[in-house]
Amino acid sequence: MTLQYPILFPYGQIGFNENIPVINTDGEPRKRGYITKREYFAHQIQTRLAEGMVIVRSKRLFHQYIVDAFTCIEQERLRWFRLNQKKIRAELYNNIQDAVMKGDTDAKTIGKRVILPSSYTGSPRYMAEKYHDAMAICRWHGNPDLFITITTNPKWEELSDHLKLYGTDDPNDRPDLESRVFKMKLDELMSDFNKGIFFPRPKAVVYTIEFQKRGLPHAHILLWLEGDFRNPTAADIDNIISAELPDKEKDPEAFGLVEQHMMHGPCGKDRLSSPCMDNGVCTKKFPRSYVPHTQVNESGYILYKRRQTGQFVSKGNIKLDNQFVVPHNLQILKKYKAHVNVEWCNKSSAIKYLFKYITKGVDRATFKVQKTPEQ
Ligand SMILES: [Zn+2]
Repeated sequence: MTLQYPILFPYGQIGFNENIPVINTDGEPRKRGYITKREYFAHQIQTRLAEGMVIVRSKRLFHQYIVDAFTCIEQERLRWFRLNQKKIRAELYNNIQDAVMKGDTDAKTIGKRVILPSSYTGSPRYMAEKYHDAMAICRWHGNPDLFITITTNPKWEELSDHLKLYGTDDPNDRPDLESRVFKMKLDELMSDFNKGIFFPRPKAVVYTIEFQKRGLPHAHILLWLEGDFRNPTAADIDNIISAELPDKEKDPEAFGLVEQHMMHGPCGKDRLSSPCMDNGVCTKKFPRSYVPHTQVNESGYILYKRRQTGQFVSKGNIKLDNQFVVPHNLQILKKYKAHVNVEWCNKSSAIKYLFKYITKGVDRATFKVQKTPEQ
């Protein structure tokens, strides 16, 4: 690392090596005497106001540095699995059967496979295991009731307070902090769900965390609520979900939050270049039409109440009204101050698709290096 990043380590500091001892503060003996690569890098990228902070303050270079650091960690883990196939009893996995299942039906192309076990996060076995767990929950409890998406808000107080302390103002310079604060909020949200603060306690929860390419983490959450919500009434839904701007006079705080976090667009003919646009149509189906009352039709499809109230918010010089409100829960919004989309799972939607979506796996690429071009 010192040779790769001379700007970050101007004195040629010694980097990670395998002989850094673990010093226990509690006096308990540890089985593992040395710290791991992950622990080393995790320790290195903390904010320490009393020390120089060359690494965490190097902005874009910091991004590159953490990616490099993680690549090192992952490579070592993968190497361990490659060299310890006996230990994980890989011979018990059936290579041929695996290959045929994946469509490589020509037996000649099957070489020596390295098995990544389900304990390796992101491996195909890991994904299959999680998917099966989710399907098992689904078989026991039926279809989920709520589908919730929570996205990181880079303007969260916790983040801006921290950044102010150490003297920078762009949260994107600290993706490590963004991720950590997000995870804390997510854990808090889960604990709130289990206490039944916003709606009946869930009897089961499934969630997945995704990252947009270089962007912020967000989580997709599925909830099975205690009680019978298989045939929800319009009132059940109105209790939990709103798709309208709150009254600006009665609840200015709520109005401001919806304005800030829950408005879609502008898109459509007002802004054809919006990322949600495809072939001149909004892929998220905005603007939605006005609906005087929440409706549940026979196939289980739900139309949220969106009245024509005359209230609107302005984005630039474009006015957005109830047609552009993303469905949300006001209490969650007030506590978490972020984009939190709350939707009722309609029964007509294929449940399998939903699980596939939340466990679709990571982006991967296949490539090879060769000396002469193939004939
Ligand atoms: Zn749109």
